This record gives sequence, C-alpha cells and structure tokens, in this order.
Amino acid sequence: MIKMPDGKLFIGGEWKNGSGQEIVSIFPVDGSINCTFKGASQEDVLEAIELAKNAQSKDSWLSLKPYERAQYLYSIADGIESNIERISQIQTRDTGKTLSETSALARSASGTFRYYAALLESSDDSLTSQRSDSLTLSVYEPLGLISAITPWNSPIASDAQKVAPALAAGNAVLLKPSSWSPLVSLELAKIIESSGLPKGLFSVLPGAGSEVGSLLVEHPDISKVTFTGSTSTGRELATQAAQKLMPISLELGGKSPAIVFEDADIDVAISGVMFGIFSSTGQSCIAGSRLFIHESIYDEFLERLVNETNKLIVGDPYEKDTQVSSLIHHDHRDKVSAYVDRAIGDGGRILCGGKAPIGAEFEKGAYYLPTIIADVKSSSEIVQEEVFGPVLVVMPFKDEGDVIEQANDSQYGLACGIWTNNFPKAWRVARAINAGTVWINTYKQFSISTPFGGEKSSGIGREKGSDGIRAYMSQKSLYIDLTGKPHQWANL
Ligand code: NAP
Repeated sequence: MIKMPDGKLFIGGEWKNGSGQEIVSIFPVDGSINCTFKGASQEDVLEAIELAKNAQSKDSWLSLKPYERAQYLYSIADGIESNIERISQIQTRDTGKTLSETSALARSASGTFRYYAALLESSDDSLTSQRSDSLTLSVYEPLGLISAITPWNSPIASDAQKVAPALAAGNAVLLKPSSWSPLVSLELAKIIESSGLPKGLFSVLPGAGSEVGSLLVEHPDISKVTFTGSTSTGRELATQAAQKLMPISLELGGKSPAIVFEDADIDVAISGVMFGIFSSTGQSCIAGSRLFIHESIYDEFLERLVNETNKLIVGDPYEKDTQVSSLIHHDHRDKVSAYVDRAIGDGGRILCGGKAPIGAEFEKGAYYLPTIIADVKSSSEIVQEEVFGPVLVVMPFKDEGDVIEQANDSQYGLACGIWTNNFPKAWRVARAINAGTVWINTYKQFSISTPFGGEKSSGIGREKGSDGIRAYMSQKSLYIDLTGKPHQWANL
C-alpha cells in the first residue's frame, strides 16, 4: 500500500498545516479513508497571495530569460516522469479511477510541462511592420498572480494544463484542487519544490470552493482565473470576474453528441461510442453522452451496442483488465442514480444497467453499471443535462439536416463524434456542429499541441496549443524613436 501524503499544505513554498475545514479523502471503491487533514482557510490564502506577489515581482523570476525559466519546467516534467507509479497510485486511491487511466494522466501531465518548456524557448516577440520613424515591437508580459481552480475528474492533467503555461509565462500560481481529489496536487507541489522553483511562486490550497475558491477569484491582487468545473460554478465565477474586469478562462460541462451514419464501419463506431461514454466511468466533460443513430441501422446498431456494453469489465481499478471502475464518491453515485430514476419516470426505457452492480466486491463501493436509455424526449432532463456518469441516451435521426438540428439542440458545445465513411459528409457535419472539438471515426483523442475548449455553456477560451502561454500574458506595444530629433506636432 502506498504511503499517503501527510496532509500538510504547500503555502508560499513551505509545508504547513492548514487552518481551514477538515478534508476527508476516501477510496470510493470501498469507502475507506485515505487520510484526513485541515484544508486552507482564508487566512492561508491571504498568506499565499502575499508571498506569491513578493516572489513574482522579484528580478530573480521576472528577469529570467525564457530558456532559463524553461529549465524549471523541464525539471518538473522529469520529476513527474520519475514518480508516475506513486502519482498514479495516489490518484487511484483519491478518485477510484483505474490505474491504467491515472498512469496515462500522469504521463500526459509530464508531457504538458515538457511541451510548454519547449514552446517557451521558441516563442518570439515580434517586430511589427514599420510605418514611421519608430521601431515598433509587440512583446508579452506576465499577468502576475494566477488562480487555477480545478475539478476532481482528471486532477493531475487539469492541474498541469494550467500550471505549466502560467508558470512558463512568468506568473505565480495559486492552485485550488477539488476537495474530493486534493492529494495529487499536493504531490505535484513536492515535485515542483524539488525543481528549485523560487519559493512563493506556487501554492496548493485545497479547501471549500465557496470559501477558498471564491477568495482566489475576488482578491484584488489576482490577475486572472483559470477554471475547470461545472457550468453553474463557472457562471458564478464569471460574474465575479466581470465586477473586477479580470480575464477568466472557463472549461465547463458538456453533453456531447455521438453521431453514427448508416455508412459507418459498425465495429469502429461501437468501440468509439462505448469508449466515448463509458471510459472514466462517464466522468468526463467530453463524454459522448447523447447518441444519434441513423434510423435505417437503429435497431441493429443498438442491439450490438447493448451486447458489447454488457461485456464491459466493471471492477477493481487495480486490475489491469478493468474498464469501468467506481465513481468518485458515493454522493455522486446517488446523484447519477437519481438522474436515471427520473429518466425512467419521464418514459425512458433502460436497455442495460440502470443500477449498481451486484456482488460482495461492489457492496461498499460507489459503483454504477454502464447504462443505456432509449425512448427519451429531446426536451427531457436526461437529454439536456450533464449527468457526469456512465449513462448514454440514444435517439434515431432521419438525415444530415435532422441530426445537425438535434445535436445542436443543447446549451452545451464541448465535443462531438461522427462515424461515417463518407468524408465530405463528415466534413459538412463537423463544421455545422456547435462544438470546440470534433472527432471523426474516433473519440477522446488528445494532443497537448491542439487547442481545447468549449462553445456556448461549455466555456470561454482555449487551453493547450501554441497560444497556451499567451493566455497567461498581456500584450504590450513598444515604439522606439529612430531619429533622435525633437518631436513634431501632428505627425499622425
Ligand atoms: P465544480 O463543483 O464546479 O467544482 C470545480 C472546482 O471549483 C472545485 O475545486 C470546487 O471546489 C471549486 N468551486 C466550487 N464552488 C466555487 C466557488 N463559489 N468559487 C470558487 N471555486 C469554487 O465541478 P466538479 O463537480 O468538481 O467537476 C465536474 C465538472 O467539471 C463537470 O461539469 C465537468 O464537465 C467539468 N469539467 C470540464 C472540463 C473541461 O475541460 N471543459 C474538464 C473536466 C471537468 P470544491 O469542490 O472543493 O468545493
């Protein structure tokens, strides 16, 4: 059994006991307690902000050349890579995710730090086209203090996607992980400490969102908030940010369509649809949770999909064959289960799942079976709201126009999957769907070099990609006189 972190918080570069509310980390597979510790209080946040301000404004950070700052990020990437086993074990204990998934998340976090280090070394400021006797340049400055607020579903990957570009840009970062998954962020702090990053530039402040999170948004010294979480919290934070006229980036919820045309390769489509919704036990913002099947193959496709779904291996996250593990928390499992019960009340027909698995090994865990529901109305709660669990709703469609209309009938616009062997059709539909990411004949593929984000209620802004560092910087224009002569009037 892996030794759990000792529950100290990383405040301004020092390990200290928090003075806020108690946090209890549980292993949702059997409900056992991993550890309990005090989270951050508002006083802890104020201390971290003060130390961050001091550290970020020092020459020892601000005047580093990009290639020098990049060395810290390379070192953090190496630190994550050499601790993948420990990081993934801790994440699995804290979230119930399969070990194979948490290892992949840790590897991707390491890749994120490496990518932003390389990008930092190769990002140029620019000389703009000259129109007067001045040399004109466009340069980028760090914003200052960044609050990064993250959810529980992919902790190390969400943390890295924010911390790496924000540090690369020359800022200080205050990270608030979810109270349901705080441990891996504290583990990341150990690695960042070992990289030698100047003290104060990075803090980890787990604690209640309503107390710790809101201060990290409202405080006047915070220059930008980068948030990943639910649409309702994101809306609240955007309102607070508007009052301060502060930039905020929001990566929010989704209810993404998966579309299967009659000419699709059925085996490829079935495996993609199942991976899209049931991997990560459906706790994925991009889960393909609304399935649209062409009416000519509806019955046949659904029968095969249900057969294959029933074969998914539900169980222990440490077993290498497990495909679907427990949900993050018993409270969350009950929320998912209540959604399904209401869908049945609304006339939905359960084709598989619809309950927790039966057996001694599942009794204490937050398990819920992969569930497929048919005969749902497009206006019903189960079709419109994000369940964030292993629950798929299925609907038939007539033609291209009909499916585009149905797929776009949602407040969300995060992702979409299309299965067809007709490329022009895939292209037309991909362009017409309201979504930040569209996969064609695949699903849930990711690349740090490709921007990610949502439309409509799924968010504002993009993470990842070559503009990722710029999102944490402010653009400045410089005019440098080349004449050495006294100023002329009206020279516009
Ligand atoms: P959440 O309840 O909105 O919480 C997200 C984070 O915000 C947590 O750290 C939470 O802290 C904090 N928080 C809550 N209230 C706050 C407030 N008033 N002020 C400041 N911070 C506050 O979301 P979640 O349940 O953790 O995560 C699931 C959601 O995240 C889903 O909707 C999913 O789609 C979305 N998500 C989106 C993406 C994306 O890239 N688009 C990726 C992953 C997840 P506490 O919980 O500790 O109180």
